[in-house]
Amino acid sequence: MTDHQALAADLVVDGLSVAVDGKEILRGVDLTVPAGEVHALMGPNGSGKSTLAYTLSGHPKYAVTGGTATFGGDDLLALPADARARLGLFLCFQYPTAIPGVTTVNFMRAALRAQGKEMPAREFIRRLNEEMAALRIDESFRARYINDGFSGGEKKRAEILQMAMLRPRLSILDETDSGLDVDALRTVANGVTRLAGPDMSVLVITHYPRILEYLKPDRVHILNQGRVILSGGPELATQIEREGYEPIIGPIAAEAGASRTSLTGVVAEAQA
Ligand code: ADP
Ligand code: MG
Repeated sequence: MTDHQALAADLVVDGLSVAVDGKEILRGVDLTVPAGEVHALMGPNGSGKSTLAYTLSGHPKYAVTGGTATFGGDDLLALPADARARLGLFLCFQYPTAIPGVTTVNFMRAALRAQGKEMPAREFIRRLNEEMAALRIDESFRARYINDGFSGGEKKRAEILQMAMLRPRLSILDETDSGLDVDALRTVANGVTRLAGPDMSVLVITHYPRILEYLKPDRVHILNQGRVILSGGPELATQIEREGYEPIIGPIAAEAGASRTSLTGVVAEAQA
């Protein structure tokens, strides 16, 4: 592994528009996560958060209709999903898939191999044991089929374990907090915090601000109707916790509506 691969890099999303089944869901997303920082993307249900995560991962269902997304200067959108993973992009999904017949150990080894990060068996086991202990994962986990019959908390721990083994340069966590009790939430947040830093940036996607009490973001972005309408410091998450989304989204949406109306007026005047 070269130094270049080991360090985090800037994620720059610029004017990204995405359609799903012919319906435009993202409508010009601008978002930068500088190398080594922890950012949160928040927004009401249906605002397009998961769509952004899937699009960045390279899921074929999401059709990019405009804009760009680069990681460390590389054009992500030009790369197939596996090449994005090899570049160091890692996604934790809201609903991870079970793979009956594939044990957690074999899954980890295959994932490392796919990214050219194979290691000798002895070192692999040593590191796996270390990371499992840090995440308070039970020993029996290793022989269980990945995500098959796992509880919500176990699935999330398994994903953080993958992250710890793969050491990605950017991790995107989509609603990692949903369905977690406070203990599991804290363990997962601590696991991510331990890895975050110069080697790994993090984009935490969440509807609820609760996980952000444990996973301290440098910046918070609000997504609404397929656009980032506001960015700010961690206090934005605190405000949402207290007051919900409406006091933030309402005035901005009203203003956007007003400027659209006045623009329509200008166009009408120009055409008259
Ligand atoms: P979030 O993660 O913020 O809750 P999503 O990205 O999952 O939002 O969804 C954004 C919007 O895209 C929603 O309005 C949802 O109904 C719509 N959507 C998601 N998948 C499809 C699909 N296959 N066809 C049409 N619309 C979809
Ligand atoms: Mg979602």
